[in-house]
Amino acid sequence: MALTVDVAVVGAGLVGAVAALGLAQKGYSVVVLERRKPEIQRGKLGVDIRNVALSPASQTLLDRIGVWRSVTGAAPYRRMFVWEERGTKGMDFRAASVGRSELGWILEQSPLAMLFWQRLEEEPSVELMLGASLVSIRTGDRVVELVTNDGDVETKLLLGADGARSTVRELLGVHTETVDTGHHALASVVRTEVPHENVAYQRFLLSGPLALLPGAEPNLSSMVWSQPPEEAARRRTLSEPQFCEELAESLDFRLGAVVAVDERIVFPLQQMLVRSFNPHPRVLLIGDAARILHPLAGLGVNLGFEDVRDVLNQLHHPRPIDPGAEGLWRRFARRRRARSQMLIGLMTAFRRVYAASNPLMQWARNTGVGWLDGTINIKAQLIKEALGLGSVAQRL
Ligand SMILES: Cc1cc2nc3c(=O)[nH]c(=O)nc-3n(C[C@H](O)[C@H](O)[C@H](O)COP(=O)(O)OP(=O)(O)OC[C@H]3O[C@@H](n4cnc5c(N)ncnc54)[C@H](O)[C@@H]3O)c2cc1C
Repeated sequence: MALTVDVAVVGAGLVGAVAALGLAQKGYSVVVLERRKPEIQRGKLGVDIRNVALSPASQTLLDRIGVWRSVTGAAPYRRMFVWEERGTKGMDFRAASVGRSELGWILEQSPLAMLFWQRLEEEPSVELMLGASLVSIRTGDRVVELVTNDGDVETKLLLGADGARSTVRELLGVHTETVDTGHHALASVVRTEVPHENVAYQRFLLSGPLALLPGAEPNLSSMVWSQPPEEAARRRTLSEPQFCEELAESLDFRLGAVVAVDERIVFPLQQMLVRSFNPHPRVLLIGDAARILHPLAGLGVNLGFEDVRDVLNQLHHPRPIDPGAEGLWRRFARRRRARSQMLIGLMTAFRRVYAASNPLMQWARNTGVGWLDGTINIKAQLIKEALGLGSVAQRL
């Protein structure tokens, strides 16, 4: 006998878990298929190497589904300073300039995933299939049938939230467009001599952008350093003191010396977008299964949460309607793709503008940055868009 539900969610990463919770709270019966239970991961500096920056729009969603109040260790960041290797001008984004006390929060990823998982376990209308492996998907007019190694599932709507290497996407043969950035990311957590004072730093080096996000501890920041693969490989194997010295220098010593670094992980950076977020009337792709952005944007989870918010908003009836009804998701799919396309384009343009080294381009960049930093209204608008609170972000 197949398990029959309203919605099947494949993948309980941050995005899938929040989607499942939100749908259950709307009265839908939900099954969640997840390969492995999340567990707390902490490196030698005592925190998770993987951190995420959550926007106020994401915080609102987590509040709406009742998990934000249980989140611990959220470190607010109140300023972001962006500057470049060759320039003399920088941009200083302050939360206070848009009447807020923070631009967002930095959170360790694994404790957050654990919290969401605990909530899923407590939710009576959610069934968890842990360790289940998806074998095949059959899409029909009235239901979607999933065959797994742990039994079959019949669902009215299938949500593929199974991350960058989505099996749902692969089994359904959904086309993707991929832009190779030509860069690898070197990520870790670092301890600095000078406290970060809740400021995020982003420096455009000639070889690629370097980002430092302030953590809950005053001297710990998480680092994502985008650079050519051979540079990333070299820096990964440098001795700790040598690496710390190069990093402090690359940061212009804004946080003084770098005194320690955790394990350094390196991975290729690709941007990816699916042709359709709704490849079948009864199937949706969300989160990294639908698009991957350059981490420079710090937007991956935030965009995934926007997908979830829009899914929940689309199902606004008090009593469950058929969540896979013909035509229900067309507008959602169009809007989500348009927003993702815009941000992927923006990230690509940003990288190209900052990678250009000819003197005219440098002059234009410096002049533009100086002008923008001094133009209060435009800067405030940019901050609002980045926080997911601006009019463009709301419209798309
Ligand atoms: C270095 C780095 C820094 C980043 N910083 C930020 C940031 O500051 N802010 C931000 O918003 N984003 C950031 N991101 C992006 C963010 O981490 C991702 O966008 C986000 O984790 C994607 O969440 P997800 O739930 O869609 O996918 P995932 O987190 O990949 O979750 C997918 C889940 O599906 C499960 N799964 C996979 N296949 C199957 C299957 N066949 N069956 C069952 N389960 C399956 C997996 O076990 C996993 O639990 C960063 C990314 C990187 C690499």
